[in-house]
Amino acid sequence: MIPQEGNYAVRATRPILLEGGRVIDPSQSLDRITNVRLEDGRVAALDAIATGDEDVLDCSGKIVSPGLIDMHVHLREPGREEDETILTGTSAAVAGGFTSIACIPNTEPPIDTQATVEFIQHQAARADKCNVFVVACVSKNREGKELAELGHLSQAGAVAFSDDGAPVYDAELMRRALEYCRMFDKPILNHAEVRELTQGGVMHEGVVSMILGLPGMPAVAEDVMTSRDIALAEATGGRIHIMHVSSAGSVDLIRRAKARGVRLTTEVCPHHFTLTDECLRTFDSNCKMSPPLRGQEHVNACIAGLADGTIDVICTDHAPHALEKKMRELDQAPFGIVGLETALGLVITKLIEPGHLDWSTALAKMTINPARILGVHRTKGTLKVGADADVTVIDPDVRWTVDPAKFRSKSTNTPFAGWKLQGRADTVIVAGRVKHKVAAEGATADGRRTAKAR
Ligand SMILES: [Zn+2]
Ligand SMILES: [Zn+2]
Repeated sequence: MIPQEGNYAVRATRPILLEGGRVIDPSQSLDRITNVRLEDGRVAALDAIATGDEDVLDCSGKIVSPGLIDMHVHLREPGREEDETILTGTSAAVAGGFTSIACIPNTEPPIDTQATVEFIQHQAARADKCNVFVVACVSKNREGKELAELGHLSQAGAVAFSDDGAPVYDAELMRRALEYCRMFDKPILNHAEVRELTQGGVMHEGVVSMILGLPGMPAVAEDVMTSRDIALAEATGGRIHIMHVSSAGSVDLIRRAKARGVRLTTEVCPHHFTLTDECLRTFDSNCKMSPPLRGQEHVNACIAGLADGTIDVICTDHAPHALEKKMRELDQAPFGIVGLETALGLVITKLIEPGHLDWSTALAKMTINPARILGVHRTKGTLKVGADADVTVIDPDVRWTVDPAKFRSKSTNTPFAGWKLQGRADTVIVAGRVKHKVAAEGATADGRRTAKAR
């Protein structure tokens, strides 16, 4: 018997044998059917055989992946617990297949002191769901004026720095942040947007915004900031990471920068490779996010960037907002959607199944690539022997319907309600303990499986 969610504490020390799954670990170019043994919170062996002292989990027909990592999550605590808490956010993470997340510091107060970093770490430990890596502020109080104490924050355990929610607007501040962070080899994650070009905008500027008569946010607002960030990274040798890339222009700029060796990494969110600005025709505020949903040519560019390696990471930008806030008129509603519990299904349904990405390429962008960017790749995002026993067992064939009422997240602001998706996390193991397990087949899924042979 595998320990079930809830009673793992009493049997935490028993080893687990993941038997007969297709083990895909991009960190060691591994893709074959074999067994994985977890013991004492670590990956103990590949190609292991049962010795009788372990719990055996039958993984036949499943994919065994290093635990998924989402490096862009807004947990809202402290300050906006009506939207999400560290407990509900990390519960949503494991339900979605993530064993590690990085939380963004635009809380109230923002995460710009060692004490706040430690508060997050403490609350995450108490929630005891998944690993939480802390991203701290670039500037004091996220005001964009004065650098935060990056050295102290780094010492407290911050893995990266960001003022997300807003860009690091001041180019001189960004330059100094990039120079300073070279000392700790940590990246600056930037929300690339030139605000003068997006003032008052609620959606992508294009044909649809013209027809609807809604104020637009042009793609060039993102392109200009991406271009600046590339130039500053190139000038300083610092590490820039462009968040939630959504425009064809940015993808092109990044591709060319990488080709000439700029230290630059990037991410794309599921909504930007699955939805277009056409969704706004319903005036649904669950389609309002920043950067906005854009036209099909931008969606195609994001997918092409994912396929050719221009885009390193798939992350959610999980941005919960309580219902009463999202119920406001489109121009008053806040930007953002929840993403933790739909990301994996969207990746499988919209990138892997149509053949845009193979499994190994897709999983690399959700495991070892974010782990490397955050500097945690020795123990996370890999199933190498000795790594932390964080594993996501994926059922690639199960079909299910997105039902926000079942979300573990405190908020339900998603444009994907009612979508039929294929594939999701079946069992999620963190530090050798089962933190999430889907109920017996058919109980929560639609029950219909594809006939496709594996
Ligand atoms: Zn952002
Ligand atoms: Zn964000």
